[in-house]
Amino acid sequence: MLKKIPLRIRFTLVASLFLLVSCVTLTLLSNVSAAHMIEAVTVMPSMGGTSTPILDLEPAAPTEPANELYYHVFQQKTVVATVLIILVGSVATYFAAGYVLKPIRDLSSEVQRRNVENLGEPIALPQSADEIRQLTVSFNQMMADLQHSFLLQKEFSANAAHELRTPLTIMQAKLDVFSLSQTENPETRDMIHAMSRQLERLSRLIEDLLCFSQDLPLDKTEPVPLFPLFCDIAEELSGLADEKEIEIQIEPTDCYVLGQDRLLERVFYNLLENAVEYSPSHTQVTLSAKQETGSVRVQVADQGEGIPEAFRRSIFEPFFRVDKSRSRAVGGSGLGLAVCKKILERHHAQISVRPNHPSGSIFEIVFPS
Ligand code: ADP
Repeated sequence: MLKKIPLRIRFTLVASLFLLVSCVTLTLLSNVSAAHMIEAVTVMPSMGGTSTPILDLEPAAPTEPANELYYHVFQQKTVVATVLIILVGSVATYFAAGYVLKPIRDLSSEVQRRNVENLGEPIALPQSADEIRQLTVSFNQMMADLQHSFLLQKEFSANAAHELRTPLTIMQAKLDVFSLSQTENPETRDMIHAMSRQLERLSRLIEDLLCFSQDLPLDKTEPVPLFPLFCDIAEELSGLADEKEIEIQIEPTDCYVLGQDRLLERVFYNLLENAVEYSPSHTQVTLSAKQETGSVRVQVADQGEGIPEAFRRSIFEPFFRVDKSRSRAVGGSGLGLAVCKKILERHHAQISVRPNHPSGSIFEIVFPS
């Protein structure tokens, strides 16, 4: 229970408890010893009282009721002093704890500010030479190691993707040439077609890997009109949509967003392709864009199987697939939405998914305008 309370309050409570026990013990002890003293003073005049003094110069010993009264006043004063010391001590401890714990609070807020973007940025060391400084040094070291290993991983995927790109392009070119000369035999044609599809799938995976492992700086942005872009993508995907007898509907719009058309095309292509891939035959996929105050809202809606609520965040993580065998069957790698999210972050846009009614999903992107 105590572990759930903030450190500052915990520290104050423990110090106050310690103060309470010490003060109450001290007050009890002083009261007991005061009672003994008063008893001794009351008894003193009767001790060895046979000789009568010639001159009574000593002050008269207090009478018993007066002793009682003094004792009572003493008791009251000690109780009031105890309560005051505990109260003042607790308040002082609260402020002292705040002062002592401030470096920990500062360190904690600095750690909270760390994300993938500023992982390698070291936290400024405090002036003190205490445990907080040591903790900051250790944290900076850990983050530097983590950043290094991230960079190595990124470099590895980028290099692997680059190395695979050239032989793939050569294979695709050779296959194209081969298909021109071998068109009579239906079996050969089917084989060439299957190989070509697999090569295309591999190329897309490599492009996604490259896109994911690069920094994608947006150094040049321009207004990108959405309607022509949507039409081009729908045209590219018309073969797949016709195969599944899915109708792609694009609502006319004059909206545009600021960005890089090549990257934005990749985002809408991935979303539209997913919508077609994960929908059953004879359904409809709709692509629309709406201008709102301060933003442009793009929606890709399908009437497919939908995405369970538990996975609506995870699908944007790399290599996450709701149903691995289903995704593999449609040729998915699990990188498409992660790439979309990365590109959209560069455009300061937000992507989310919600259920469509009565079935399917709506992927929604909000661009600042
Ligand atoms: P993949 O290459 O596997 O399609 P994505 O990153 O594009 O990878 O998508 C991740 C997962 O999200 C997919 O495997 C699929 O399970 C799910 N998904 C994406 N889009 C849709 C959609 N329109 N309808 C249903 N499920 C989807």
